[in-house]
Amino acid sequence: MRILITGAAGFLGSHLCDCLLAEDHEVVGMDNFITGNPDNIAHLSGNRKFTFYRNDVSNYILVPGRVDAVLHFASPASPNPNSPFGYPNLPIQTMKVGALGTHNCLGLCRAQGARFVLASTSEIYGDPLEHPQKETYWGHTDPVGPRSMYDEAKRFAEALTMAYHNYHNVNTRIARIFNTYGPRMRLDDGRLMPNFLQQALQGKPLTVYGDGSHTRSLCYVDDLIDGIYRLLLSDEHLPVNIGNPVEMTVLELAESINRIVGNKAGLIFEKNAQLGNDPQRRQPDITRAREILDWGPKISLEEGIRQTIPYFKKKLGLA
Ligand code: UDP
Repeated sequence: MRILITGAAGFLGSHLCDCLLAEDHEVVGMDNFITGNPDNIAHLSGNRKFTFYRNDVSNYILVPGRVDAVLHFASPASPNPNSPFGYPNLPIQTMKVGALGTHNCLGLCRAQGARFVLASTSEIYGDPLEHPQKETYWGHTDPVGPRSMYDEAKRFAEALTMAYHNYHNVNTRIARIFNTYGPRMRLDDGRLMPNFLQQALQGKPLTVYGDGSHTRSLCYVDDLIDGIYRLLLSDEHLPVNIGNPVEMTVLELAESINRIVGNKAGLIFEKNAQLGNDPQRRQPDITRAREILDWGPKISLEEGIRQTIPYFKKKLGLA
């Protein structure tokens, strides 16, 4: 296939490029670099199966030649208001890429008869009242809350994807992606894993927001990309959760990271920087992914962290 990846220089987008090229597809990457990083795809320059365009997909998408599939992975994704790369500080771009960017991708798919994969998110469940979250759960979101620019853009993107599927017969898929970590995450986006790994590797205390009793379920990037690729090859049009169901409190995660890295500096508790609306519990029910895609995560937290450490060490000049 000849596949367009939006957000190709981002954390997930760049890993998708690698996966699809390894599977012998041709890849066209696009990114405007507002949160993506050219370093993430630098190793692909010179690959004759890879083309890259610097472009904001919220404005227009022009790809010369045939396109067989579009994977829409462009979007800011960190909720941290203290980082310039967090979506609270990029609210208009976040809403535009979720809404107008998705519209442009779907228009291209319709014109080309291409299949479409939307990178949706566990954030569409908001601060969930159902636990673990199944795809049938409608969510608990605040349309004017501090995370609304992301949640509502992705909810709109899902609705638009279903509209193009049902009304125009576009061959669409929706991946609801839960917390994912691994090499190529931005060090400065203020998310859990980049913050904790940097702090641990530098021998500093880990900043736990609130009392650390809220939970997350973290998936290693290679597992996630495998799930997305299986979804692309499937015929499933309804949303599918892709994530690791092993749930831990933020406190347990921080303690595990300190143990794995060998950091003796411990933890400090900080006022929750995320202004309320920090979802209290998050855990995917992946029954559908197991049944439909024959997919489940294989990499443990400890193994995933060990595979991520060399990237952070290199970026921090510690390698
Ligand atoms: N968190 C934390 N310390 C940090 C960064 C994040 O305690 O330095 C917490 C944050 O409050 C949230 C969880 O870790 O409960 C995951 O945060 P992240 O920013 O990775 O994204 P989210 O899962 O909220 O979208």
